[in-house]
Order: sequence, then structure tokens, then C-alpha cells
Amino acid sequence: MKNTTSANFKHIGTKLLNWYKINARDLPFRQTKDPYKIWICEIVFQQTRINQGLNHYNNFIARFPDVKTLAEADEDEVLLYWKGLGYYSRAINIHKAAQQIMNDYHGIFPHEYEEILKLKGVGKYTAAAVSSICFNGKIPAVDGNFYRVLSRVFADDFDISNSRAFSYFSELAHLILPDNVGDFNQAMMDLGSEICKPKNPLCTECPLNDDCLAFSLNKISEFPVKTKKTKAEDLALKYYFVHRNGEFLIQQRKDDFIWKKLFEFPPEISDELIPFIKSVKTVSHKLTHKNLSIEIFNVEVDTEEIWQNFIAENNYIITDVEGSHEKSFPKPLENYIESYDTAYRIL
Ligand code: SF4
Repeated sequence: MKNTTSANFKHIGTKLLNWYKINARDLPFRQTKDPYKIWICEIVFQQTRINQGLNHYNNFIARFPDVKTLAEADEDEVLLYWKGLGYYSRAINIHKAAQQIMNDYHGIFPHEYEEILKLKGVGKYTAAAVSSICFNGKIPAVDGNFYRVLSRVFADDFDISNSRAFSYFSELAHLILPDNVGDFNQAMMDLGSEICKPKNPLCTECPLNDDCLAFSLNKISEFPVKTKKTKAEDLALKYYFVHRNGEFLIQQRKDDFIWKKLFEFPPEISDELIPFIKSVKTVSHKLTHKNLSIEIFNVEVDTEEIWQNFIAENNYIITDVEGSHEKSFPKPLENYIESYDTAYRIL
């Protein structure tokens, strides 16, 4: 940690807090210290921009206002309320964690960082955020914002793709940590997304510009340092949209390497159905570490007997466009269903 350990940098944390007092974004979850709501918001906004996720967050909280309601809900309904946010394993985990809180903590959200960390799907960042915002915990909620801001302020070239980056930047954060860690964590989140952005940071408006080494050395573009790029894997999928008179067939996914528990079209068909293939559409879709290429075959079955045979041989669910709105599908399949028009054609 270069020459930083002996110096006192607490004034940096104080400057950040003062800035936050005036500039904090007015967000619904900023009006509460309810650990349940803070936890849900941390999970919702992990991979989703605030303005994209806000309606989802509000709808989710309106339907599941507390741990008990969430724990008692059906998993399918929880998934349905997660629709549009993607990364559905997060929804499955929060549902399980709510049940864990009911069973292991008598329905009371745990207060200690170490206990919060035991909840399904909760990592160090979320546990630190909830414990600091709701229970005055003293742990910095280190995420990409911390990596970026701290590496720039200290012009520190520690590689953020290094497996020790989390503990390294946690230690660095402690150098500037004020007493009010809850507000500090939220201030860092706002500074990272509004001012010290990955590209074109607004340094002249930044409360830390007097202290920022990268700024004074005019080397902002050199920080943070990241050497390893995660290479996305290519993956090809095939689906068959088997339909007749406005109804089509679906099933819940059993594989969990992607799209856990979401619904999908049949991944294969019998030879009998091959003559009914009318068209094929190829769509590309990006997941965090995967580039998907999905072929969707439009199979319009115009023989009742063959339709019934195929249904009898498989455990597919019969649905229609309206019924499909009650279930959660991966985005590319949801788009495909939307293209199924009122005349039962694929547009
Ligand atoms: S001065 Fe610029 S680079 Fe430094 S912390 Fe502020 S916004 Fe980031």
C-alpha cells in the first residue's frame, strides 16, 4: 500500500460525507433504515441502474413489504415480480434468505455483519451495506466504485482483477473511513456513479479533487488498473415455438447454468413436427460471461392429432400470450412471444 499507511487521510472521508449531505440522491430507500428494504434495494441495484430498477423495486416492496410476506410467497410469484431485472438467481436467493430469516432468526433481520453474511445470496458488499446503513456497522461496502475512486485518489496501481483486490481496497478504504460508515458507503456509491464515473469523470465538480493524485498528475485514464479481461464464452441454443390456434408450449427450465427456473420453449421436437417448421429466427443475447446465439424455430402445427400426440408425449405446459404474462421468460423468448400477433403468426 505504497506510502499511504503512515499518513492521515481521514479528512478525505469527511469531505465526502459533507458533499453527500448536500448532494445525496433523493431515492426512496434513503428514507428508511429498515434492513429488509435496504437489503432488497442492494440486491435489485447490484446489476441494474437506479432509474431502470426503481419501478421494479417499488412494485416488489409494495407486493412483499416485509420478510414474512416474501418468505410465504410462491417462488413463481417472486420470479414474476423480478421480471425485467434479469439475473433471476438473485430473486431465488432472496426468497430463500427470507425463509432463512423466518426459520433461523425468528423473523428478525440479523444485526451483525457476520450473521447477515450467512443469508443466501448475500456477499460481503451487501452485508457491509446493510450492517452499516441499518445497524451502525463499521465495514466499508467495497465494490467497483471503491476500486475506481480509491485507485484514482491514491494513484494506486494495484490490479483490480487480482484476487486480493477486495481485501486490498478494503484496507485502503479504512484509511479514509469516518465514523458514519453507513452514509460514507452511500456517498461512495453516489460519487462513483455521478462524479467519478468510469469514463469522463467530472473532476472539477468532485469534492475530492484537492486530494486526488490521479487528477493532480493528470493520469486519471491510467486508474484503475485492470489486466485480466474475462472472456465471454459463446453458447448456441435452439428452441421450438410449437403453436396451434394461439396456444403454444412451454416448460420450466431444469438446467441452472443460465436462466435458472425461468420458462422456455421446447428445446427439441419429434420428427413428426419437422414438416410444420415455418421459419427460423436467430437472435443474439449477451449475459455477463456468455454470448448466446439462439435459433428459434416457428412450428405451426395445423393437425390436431399431431398437436395432441406431441403434448401427450411430453410434459409441456400449454399457454397463450396472456397466460405467458403470468410467467417469467428469458428476455429473448419474451420478445419472441411479443411478436406472436393476434392472427397467431410470428411477425
Ligand atoms: S478528482 Fe476526478 S478522478 Fe479524482 S476522485 Fe474526483 S472525479 Fe475521481
